[in-house]
Formats: sequence, C-alpha cells, structure tokens
Amino acid sequence: MEPLKVGVLAVQGNFREHAAMLRSLGADVTEVRKPEQLEGLDGLVLPGGESTTFTRLMGLYGLDEAIRSFAKPVFGTCAGMIVLDRGHLGLVDIHVRRNAFGRQLASFETDLDVAGIDGLLRAVFIRAPWIEDAGDGVEILASIDGHPVVARDGRFLVASFHPELTDDTRLHNLFLDTVRAARGVGEPHLRLAAGQEALDEPALHERRAVGG
Ligand code: GLN
Repeated sequence: MEPLKVGVLAVQGNFREHAAMLRSLGADVTEVRKPEQLEGLDGLVLPGGESTTFTRLMGLYGLDEAIRSFAKPVFGTCAGMIVLDRGHLGLVDIHVRRNAFGRQLASFETDLDVAGIDGLLRAVFIRAPWIEDAGDGVEILASIDGHPVVARDGRFLVASFHPELTDDTRLHNLFLDTVRAARGVGEPHLRLAAGQEALDEPALHERRAVGG
C-alpha cells in the first residue's frame, strides 16, 4: 500500500517534531506553508506553537480558507487545537480556553488515560488549553480534573498537549488509523461519525472496486 500522505502546518511551532514522528510511522510528510500544498494530502496535522501567530500567518497566506475546504482527517495539538475551535477556524464543535491550567501549572507532564489507547500515555503540557465546552457530537477521550484534553469530532482529533515531544507514537497512530480509513473510502466530503474507529475492510474494497 502506498504511504499515507500527511501534511504538517509549518508556519510556526513544533512542526519538525510532528513530521519526524509521522515519518517514523511510515507516512510521506509534507510541510505545508502554502494552500496548494494541501492538494493530494490524506490528512493534516496542526502542531503546537502560538495560536495568535498561527491565526495571523494562516490569514496572510490564505491557509485559513484552504484548511476550511480541506475535507480529510485533521489532528490539532495544543495551539493546533485552539485554531480549530468555534472562535477560530470553526471546524470543531468546541470552545477552547487558552492557557487554561494557569501560572502554577503552566507546563507539566502527566500520565493520561485516553479512550482507545491501552495503558497510560505520557503527556507533556506546555501553557496548554483545555476544552471549556463541547457540542453533543464531540467524543471526549481524556480529561484532567473534569476538563477535557483529548477529543474527537468526526474526522477531527484534538489534544491539549504535545504528543510529538515523547517517543510514544500511539496518539499519532490513532490519527493515522482515521487517515487510512478515510483514504480507502475516497469520499472527498467524508465525515466519520463520532466514535467510528475505522471502516471495515470489505466496505473499503467495495468502494475502491466501483472507482471510489
Ligand atoms: N499557549 C499557546 C497558545 O495560546 C499554546 C501553547 C502550545 O501550543 N504549547 O496559543
């Protein structure tokens, strides 16, 4: 099978670390700085960094509109989660609170229980946001003290922390499973139902056979 083509928004922030992790998992990675670089990609990662800078640069390069029209799976981490929320790109039905953990807990590491991942996941939080409010269609996969920090909304996966800064690749793998499933279907406006892990193989073959 051809490698999955995954873009990483590379205007600012931790894109190199995400790219390295995705490559280690066999993906063909493109650093995305221009709208046309989204063409032909199977999925996109929005890394951590500074959300105000992302918003400014995405607007400047026309990447905001391009990302809004990009119909494949998207994984947003930290600042990448912020820019996907209702108040920014408006793609994920969540309201995110920036720097939510406050000064004392500005940056910390913890072991997180994430739905869909066996065992605990080491998570690095850096001036991290949390999800303040989520629509009914949003599946919360992990929380800290009742504050959601990992969630899925159809083809969107979001996390408050920096999964690219450990050597644990399981959250990226979870994202790549969605990317793989969506590619098989070949449906440009595919939106996986919340909670749907992957499409079963026979269904994928059937769609391919009819030219999907
Ligand atoms: N505090 C940053 C913001 O508000 C996010 C921090 C991060 O991505 N590590 O954009």
